[in-house]
Amino acid sequence: MNHIGIGYDVHRLAEGRKLVLGGVEIPHSKGLDGHSDADVLMHAVCDAILGAMGEKDIGHLFPNTDPRWHNAPSRLFLKEVARQVSFHDGRVINVDATLIAEEPKISAYIAAMKENIARELDLNPRRVGVKATTNEQIGFIGRGEGIAAMAVACVELPK
Ligand code: MG
Repeated sequence: MNHIGIGYDVHRLAEGRKLVLGGVEIPHSKGLDGHSDADVLMHAVCDAILGAMGEKDIGHLFPNTDPRWHNAPSRLFLKEVARQVSFHDGRVINVDATLIAEEPKISAYIAAMKENIARELDLNPRRVGVKATTNEQIGFIGRGEGIAAMAVACVELPK
């Protein structure tokens, strides 16, 4: 049976941080702040897959109080989530995500993001959707204070 999950995440933009989205380091004046590399896109995808399995969110698996995850690349989180899917005898069918960022422009990096996500999930990159939109200069995203991502995942489970 196919199970759908939803994920949402947001991180604050800060000076002196790398901007990592979908495992791609993107040149920008600011980066996302967080305990790990703060890859908001991978975090949303992780939560979508965990949600499809009825599991707790990524913060339970990787607490931001655990020094092991300090500056950790979030592909490790996605890899662990993929392992959880196999524990459930499941299979990720597809994931789809939208980044919401006022800047920088992300379109040039989307193919690489899809490949990075697909690699950790052992999926064909065509089963990974990554889109981007601005927030039309409205609210905290529109003011460039942070970047958000939302994602859905479809996971086939034995029951
Ligand atoms: Mg996060």
